Amino acid sequence: MALIVQKYGGTSVATAERIKAVADRIIRTKEAGHRVVVVVSAMGDTTDELIALAHQVTDEPSERELDLLLSTGEIVSCTLMAMALRAKGYEAVALTGPQAGILTEPAYGRAQIIRIEPERIVRELDRGRIVIVAGFQGMTEEFDITTLGRGGSDTTAVALAVIRRADRCEIYTDVDGVFTADPRLVPRARKLAEIDYEEMLELAQQGARVMHPRAVELGAVYNMPIVVRSSFNDNPGTLIHKGVAVEIRNKVRGIAHDTNVAKITIVGVPDRPGIAAALFAPLAEHGVNVDVIVQNASLHGLTDLSFTVARGDLSKALRLVEPVARQIGARDVVASNGWAKVSIVGTGMQHSPGYAARMFKALADRNINIEMITTSEIRITCIIDEARVQEAVQALHDAFQLEQPELA
Ligand code: ADP
Ligand code: ASP
Ligand code: MG
Repeated sequence: MALIVQKYGGTSVATAERIKAVADRIIRTKEAGHRVVVVVSAMGDTTDELIALAHQVTDEPSERELDLLLSTGEIVSCTLMAMALRAKGYEAVALTGPQAGILTEPAYGRAQIIRIEPERIVRELDRGRIVIVAGFQGMTEEFDITTLGRGGSDTTAVALAVIRRADRCEIYTDVDGVFTADPRLVPRARKLAEIDYEEMLELAQQGARVMHPRAVELGAVYNMPIVVRSSFNDNPGTLIHKGVAVEIRNKVRGIAHDTNVAKITIVGVPDRPGIAAALFAPLAEHGVNVDVIVQNASLHGLTDLSFTVARGDLSKALRLVEPVARQIGARDVVASNGWAKVSIVGTGMQHSPGYAARMFKALADRNINIEMITTSEIRITCIIDEARVQEAVQALHDAFQLEQPELA
């Protein structure tokens, strides 16, 4: 008897009808003789709606209460799922994150799981029940409810799979698997039969929403096979695992894009040791994630320093950086929204020159200006105007011939 962890995303459980349809899928797995732990996201756009509601009450909702509020979304869907299963004659039990023993650090909105005490889940499985766990949430040592960050139900699922040594973790979503680019942007994007953890992690970190990056990271560390597939059909999905052959295939594996990009430029920064540290330390202390950083060559002892943050962090970042900029004698601080990043990702690129040039040319041919560039060993990222993002992703997909089937 295998243990299978299944996760169903927001679109998959958006209505009562969808919840009943998903219940039938869960029953199929149970009837095949498996033990089943199910993780659910909040129904449809519930999380967005709850955030909007909080902002109607106040401009700056307190972080603790916001997490408690958001956690209700997943509690609604897990209880309804358990009811749907019971109505179909199956023993099921709904558990909140805390009831499932998920303990996190006290970092609201981005809590990491410290450990899982699985006794309750084990007890329920031993009684033959299907266990439905509310995704995206946990509890601190002080009994406060936390959330794991947007898209975090994937991480709940992989963490439970890892801790219970499940045979596999299945992520059910609203597309057929992981594609060479977001299939909503690139109609000819191709579904990948498999992808390794490293490439999937890089794609996820660069904005491919289909998997939460921390879920992929956990999968990689514990070597947990993850299958991404649709909850709307029975098509085979994408297997995320290790050891995908590199040499025989297209060296660019996929393209990711992210429109959640804001940019801050500090103009006329004195070029002295310690300045960058002074600027970035307060951001790190306050949990603002800085993404791309570019510092120009200095002219007459002055330089410009630009960096990007998520749009939701822009005002907080400005509040933190402006006083430091004044203190160090910088000339100005300029902030702007409206940026996007596009990335090409592939482990095969690291030993093959020329990919950057091909990427820049594909963008130049469309007259798309590159604002900033960063690279890792297996990725090249350009910051561009948000308005050009679809065109850019499509151009790169064409340039690297990603619609063509794999060679072997
Ligand atoms: P869920 O609610 O099931 O967690 P998400 O909205 O978080 O679903 O993730 C699925 C979405 O991710 C898809 O609808 C798709 O638009 C988007 N996406 C972005 N990049 C990719 C990609 N490379 N492959 C598949 N889907 C992608
Ligand atoms: N409901 C949460 C979100 O919308 C978590 C998730 O869906 O994974 O971000
Ligand atoms: Mg998701």
